[in-house]
Amino acid sequence: MKRIAVITSGGDAPGMNACIRAIVLTASQHDIEVIGFRHGFRGIVEDLNQPLHPNDMRLVSQRGGTILLSSRYPQFKEVDAARQAAAVLDQHDISALVVIGGDGSFRGAHHLDQYWDGQVLGLPGTIDNDLAGTDTTIGFTTAVDTAMEAIDRIRETAEAMARVFLIEVMGRHAGFIGLHAAIAGSAEAMLVPELEPQPKLADLADSIRRARQAFPDSSYLIVVSENLWPGGVEELARQLTQATGTTCHSAPLGHIQRGGRPNAADRILSMQLGQAAVHAVLDGISGHMIGVEQGHVVRVPLHLTFERDKQLDSRLVDLQLGLQQLNFASNVV
Ligand code: ATP
Repeated sequence: MKRIAVITSGGDAPGMNACIRAIVLTASQHDIEVIGFRHGFRGIVEDLNQPLHPNDMRLVSQRGGTILLSSRYPQFKEVDAARQAAAVLDQHDISALVVIGGDGSFRGAHHLDQYWDGQVLGLPGTIDNDLAGTDTTIGFTTAVDTAMEAIDRIRETAEAMARVFLIEVMGRHAGFIGLHAAIAGSAEAMLVPELEPQPKLADLADSIRRARQAFPDSSYLIVVSENLWPGGVEELARQLTQATGTTCHSAPLGHIQRGGRPNAADRILSMQLGQAAVHAVLDGISGHMIGVEQGHVVRVPLHLTFERDKQLDSRLVDLQLGLQQLNFASNVV
C-alpha cells in the first residue's frame, strides 16, 4: 500500500484546505494512506506528523488558512536538513510527498528531490500567483476579491470626503494582485513592479494635482504593490502630500488579504489540483508541479516554475492603463 505525505509551506493561501481534502479523498479511493506534517518542511524534519482521514475532511474546504499549519523555515536550504527530511519520510514508509506552496516551497521541494528517492510533487498554493507554468494559483482569486472589497469600502469613504488614498496590496515582488485589484476597484492609478518605466513621484503628484483641479469633489485611489516604494506606502503618501499640498492617506491592506473563506473558483481549482496530484503519484511522476493552463491540468518540471519569471497579462495591463487615461481625460472638463 502506498503512503502519501502532504505539507503546506510558506504563506498560507485560501483553498489549501480544499486541496488537502481532495488529496485525502482521492487517495482513499485508491487505497492510499495520507499523512500530513505540520508547519511545512520544519514539520518533516522534526517529525510533526498527523494522520489525515477522509472523515476529518468533511468541514475543511470552506475554511481559510491551513489545517496543516505552515511556517517559514530557511534552514531547509541546508543539505543536512534535506537528508534529515528524507530519513523521516522513509521511517514513515512514504512513497510520495505533495508540497502545497509558492516558489520558495517549490525550491525546497526541488532541493529535497535531490536527496530522497520518493516522488516529490508541487501544487501551486500562494496568493501572489507568481509561479510560471500555471495560469493561476490556489488563493489568488480570493485574495483579489478581498482586496477589491476593501478598495470598494475605502472608495465610499474617500468619495464622501473627496480624499486621496494609496492602497497597498500584497504580492511579494509580483504585481498580479495589484493589477487585478486595480482593475476591479476602478483605481485611478496603479504602481506594480512590472511597469516599464515606473511612474515617478513627480508624475504621480502631477496626475493627482490635475485630477483634483478638474474634479475637486472626487476621490482618487492609487493601488500600490508592497515592497515597491522605498519606505512603503506610508512614505509614498508623505512624499505625495508634500508634493501636491493635498493630504494623501495610506491604507496598507496587509494580512486580511491572506485570510478568509476561499471563493468558489479557488475551491474548485484546489480540488482539481488535489485530485490530479494523486493521479500523478499513481502515474509515477516526480519533480513536477501540477498546474492549470487554459482549463487543462498540466505537469511542469518544478525548476521551470521558479527559474522563469511569470509575466503579467499585457492585455490587462493595457486595459488598466487605458482606463486610467480615459478616467483622467473625462475628469478634465
Ligand atoms: P509565499 O510566496 O506565498 O509566501 P513561498 O512558498 O514562496 O510562499 P517562502 O517562505 O519563500 O514561501 O518558502 C517557503 C519555505 O520553503 C521556506 O521557509 C523554506 O523552508 C523553503 N525554501 C525556500 N527556498 C528554499 C531553497 N532555496 N532551498 C530549500 N528550501 C527552500
